[in-house]
Amino acid sequence: VHSKLPWVGTTIFTVMSRMAQEVGAISLSQGAPDFACSPELIDLIAHYMKMGYNQYAPMEGLLALREQIASKTERCYGFAPDPVTEVTVTTGATEGLFAAITAVVRPGDEVIVFEPCYDSYIPAIELCGGKAIRLSLEGETYRIPWQQLKQAITSRTRLLIINTPHNPTGSILRKPDIDQLTAILKDSDIFLISDEVYEHIIFDGEPHYSIAREPLLRERSFIMSSFGKTYHATGWKVGYCIAPANLTKELRKVHQFLVFSTHTATQYALAEYLKKPETYETLPDFYQEKRDKFRQMMAQTRFRLLPCSGSYFQLGSYAHLSDEADAAYATRLTKEYGVATIPVSAFYKEATDQRVLRFCFAKKDETLEKAVERLMRI
Ligand code: PMP
Ligand code: GLN
Repeated sequence: VHSKLPWVGTTIFTVMSRMAQEVGAISLSQGAPDFACSPELIDLIAHYMKMGYNQYAPMEGLLALREQIASKTERCYGFAPDPVTEVTVTTGATEGLFAAITAVVRPGDEVIVFEPCYDSYIPAIELCGGKAIRLSLEGETYRIPWQQLKQAITSRTRLLIINTPHNPTGSILRKPDIDQLTAILKDSDIFLISDEVYEHIIFDGEPHYSIAREPLLRERSFIMSSFGKTYHATGWKVGYCIAPANLTKELRKVHQFLVFSTHTATQYALAEYLKKPETYETLPDFYQEKRDKFRQMMAQTRFRLLPCSGSYFQLGSYAHLSDEADAAYATRLTKEYGVATIPVSAFYKEATDQRVLRFCFAKKDETLEKAVERLMRI
């Protein structure tokens, strides 16, 4: 077959999770908790399934859930999107991202992404005939290169994709970043996708600068989030997209033919569970404890830790220990030391190897302890 994605193999998350399973390694690779999600939420889903809510949900998502998403957005960011015309429930953020990209990117369009970036963006752009213009985030805090961004914009630039808190680097955008972005985009007709799936996983008391807070940006933006991250249930694949009515209309045209709708009983359950703000407001503290504990323990290993301001990922450099490429190093770490990680080069279209690994700390304390014990042998 003539491949439409000749450079794409099986996603690194599947490769590393499978390898971890095969050799019985502790997995700090794929970004998924190994602890239980809320039993109350599970009971609610079971309740609604038993009540008979087992057929298709409304295409755009259950209205009760969209209303709760709107209230949460207002509570967190001071902006209430219209649940009827501006909020869509998606089958995970992955589907929302794909639908948004497909809705706006035409053949020949340029889409600016910052690498390292989540691995679904570029394939989605290319499947639409778009061209990904890849700019590298700079330094150990992985800042957006603003000057380069300005120079990269052309008459063909259709879309820009940002992600804060950031996977895989744990960096976040702060107010000056948002101001830069606003200055660059405000007089253009470029769309923005803001991937905010880790919106509630942010540390040291820093606020999450959602694009929902920004009137000048949100009128051109698709804001994505995911209940998989917020409620420790990545397997449920429920996310959402907030976008102005004209963009939501286009997004839904794609969404209806990608999946049509999302698991019904889970939407009923989430609509109820979301009424309690503590279910998401406690998340920063919960994960900060894990981050601090993990960083403290990792300080006893020979890895050099990079800063982590958000998300549940910690980067560790081994550049001072070995010249081995990160994919080979991660494979060896899994097979010989029994700890699976993600090589950061996987987040670049053309492998850019800085000899850095990504460790997921959304794990039970005992999992983290056992993993670090093994990593101390290096
Ligand atoms: N964007 C980023 C940055 C992610 O890390 C993830 C989770 N892997 C997603 C999107 C996809 O989220 P979901 O699991 O809800 O599809
Ligand atoms: N977002 C998760 C990660 O970065 C994995 C998602 C996936 O497996 N597609 O690890």
